[in-house]
Amino acid sequence: VLQKLVKAEKLQIVSHLAASISHEVRNPLTVSRGFIQMLSEGEATQARKEYAIIALQELDRATEVINDYLTFAKPAFDIEENININEEIQHAVNVIIPLANMNGIQVKLSLVDDHHYYVAKGDRKKFQQCLINIMKNGIESMSNHGEIKIHLNYEGTTIHINIQDEGTGMTQEQIDRLGEPYFTTKEKGTGLGMMVSFSIIKGMNGNIHVTSEHGKGTCFSILLPVSSMSDRMTQDTHFTKMV
Ligand code: ADP
Ligand code: MG
Repeated sequence: VLQKLVKAEKLQIVSHLAASISHEVRNPLTVSRGFIQMLSEGEATQARKEYAIIALQELDRATEVINDYLTFAKPAFDIEENININEEIQHAVNVIIPLANMNGIQVKLSLVDDHHYYVAKGDRKKFQQCLINIMKNGIESMSNHGEIKIHLNYEGTTIHINIQDEGTGMTQEQIDRLGEPYFTTKEKGTGLGMMVSFSIIKGMNGNIHVTSEHGKGTCFSILLPVSSMSDRMTQDTHFTKMV
């Protein structure tokens, strides 16, 4: 029992560390980026401009690690809360739309509408991070045109979230390596996004299926057990009362 306690404490320290890295390191990275950008402009020699480009790339890489891996690092143990899946998907889509539009990509969302909310158990913020990581990969796989479709459905007691892009697709070898730490085909990739996403869904007793056709696109299907269902009508009345 004593040994277990020591281990739990150590885990807690690591998690706190991760959370503070994510908060405290983001600001200096942003500030440094601004100054290096300024140094690289103007009368800098060619050599100095090249050094500046390398420094900017490395700063961006550090920021990406935080975005993919540490954004929602939580102290101690995972939170178990009721997650309203409809609401979270809507939220993730709102976060991703500006990035998609900046890249000339349309986002289409279709939620099954049968007057119910579907609830799953897990850590809401981590679930957000997972959705955003997968959607971001979809956007990054498309070159400035196309559509990413997000579809929510449910079968029996399983929630299905499909995220379908029209991007480059993957080879069988790439699919097999998906989720392996540091596996990336991108120049500035971290190879951490999928590893984190898989572990978040596993923690929710769910599963991720990937189907992909090279050159055509990829579909990520997230399957989650429904923990409960609530009537949309009841919930709406409740909101009205609160207003
Ligand atoms: P990163 O995005 O930093 O490369 P990820 O773990 O998010 O790391 O993804 C790992 C790799 O999986 C990507 O580099 C890419 O090769 C492949 N991948 C993931 N999602 C897609 C997708 N929707 N379409 C094509 N390839 C993908
Ligand atoms: Mg990624």
